[in-house]
Amino acid sequence: MVPPTGAGQNASVPELGPSPLVTGQELPVADARAAIHAAVAAFIRATRAVDGQETVPLAAAAGRVLARDLVSPIDVPAHDNSAMDGYALHGADLQAVAATVLHVLPGTVFAGTPHSASVARGQALRIMTGAVMPPGLDTVVPIELCRVDGAVLTLQPGGLSAGDNRRHRGEDLAQGQPALLAGRWLRPADVGLAASLGIAALGVRRPLRVALFSTGDELRDPGQVLPPGCIYDSNRASLRAALQRLNVQVLDFGLVRDDPAALRQTLQHAAANADAVLTSGGVSMGDADHVRDVLAAFGTVAFWKVAMRPGRPFAFGPLHMADGRPGPLLFALPGNPVAALVTFYALVRDALLLLAGALPMPLPVLQARSVAAIRKRPGRTEFQRAVVEPANDGSGFQVRLTGSQGAGILRSMSEANALVVLRQEQGAVAAGEAVDVWLFDGLV
Ligand code: AMP
Ligand code: MG
Repeated sequence: MVPPTGAGQNASVPELGPSPLVTGQELPVADARAAIHAAVAAFIRATRAVDGQETVPLAAAAGRVLARDLVSPIDVPAHDNSAMDGYALHGADLQAVAATVLHVLPGTVFAGTPHSASVARGQALRIMTGAVMPPGLDTVVPIELCRVDGAVLTLQPGGLSAGDNRRHRGEDLAQGQPALLAGRWLRPADVGLAASLGIAALGVRRPLRVALFSTGDELRDPGQVLPPGCIYDSNRASLRAALQRLNVQVLDFGLVRDDPAALRQTLQHAAANADAVLTSGGVSMGDADHVRDVLAAFGTVAFWKVAMRPGRPFAFGPLHMADGRPGPLLFALPGNPVAALVTFYALVRDALLLLAGALPMPLPVLQARSVAAIRKRPGRTEFQRAVVEPANDGSGFQVRLTGSQGAGILRSMSEANALVVLRQEQGAVAAGEAVDVWLFDGLV
């Protein structure tokens, strides 16, 4: 079967494969993403893979996915209160033309200790930010607008209207309103919002379980002696870290040799324990044969040549268990270290979040001016490692590439704080031209 070429085309799980190795045809990144997301949605419908829930205290809730809508059990704020340090008064006492002169009652209303005595017309009461508005008073004048002489408060006309500087009960959130929606990937402010509602624990989705392994006879674990011709496995370290930032539970299946029996055994084990399987290496044209045969026996996996650089080879599809029951989704990344990470961000990250039950959280795209020309031919999406910084002339951001852009040169990625994303149809970039940029870090 030929992979889908139209964006948004519905590639359900069974329709995904088995697919021959497609030669001479590259799949645009947008189409690969659309096919993956459609398959993930079908997978969720078919297997309800990540329906499990658990309750966690707020201290462990950041980065988890909210399982159900969080409905506010109270009004926030619970009372009308002052937005300023100043004097509370009756708005109706404010004079439009002449000065307003009020009698100041003794004492101060502090946050947390409501004042219950009534305040007559013509009177004012000192009040602090967050303190409950005394009964009948509806306006607060900030301290810097007041002249106070003993018990006499004088206000010049203008600058203040009835109702000013009063926060209304329920104005942030009314009781019964949804405060956070199911699928929310909980950020610091969300956890704070739950706390402000008096909620001490949240129902969240169970973490997604992702089996991770690297393939290649040449690979050794860091800490091991490196025989001639071998290299250290860096993909498992970088991919594990990328998964951990999504709060995924990583099942580390280690190094797997380029050997059908070893691959079969690892896949069987992973299929029985994980919601998704993430691998690197062995999917490129050169050595894909034995991988393809093994995967054909374990699922319906499509091998794609994605129109992207770095990262062309990519395989994706549902696996099944030895007894034929549906298994996890396989994402097989190219082996080159930069290609593996870039492909993860471009094709896998959002799919895993979807699988984890999260509402879409696309990577934010920033525009920055390229300090130098960038060579590029239309036909592929290119991801270049780069440093984004404030522009020298003070306007917006500028971006410069980080040295050699070879797919295997991880240092170019480590020195970068962003990826320049050159769209498929885009040609060469002139110096000073604005380009799209994905930042590696941001507020979450
Ligand atoms: P492959 O996709 O298996 O053909 O690998 C492409 C290139 O990436 C080869 O140079 C591999 O040695 C290298 N490579 C594959 N897997 C890893 C890994 N886990 N860590 C570092 N380099 C890798
Ligand atoms: Mg290999």
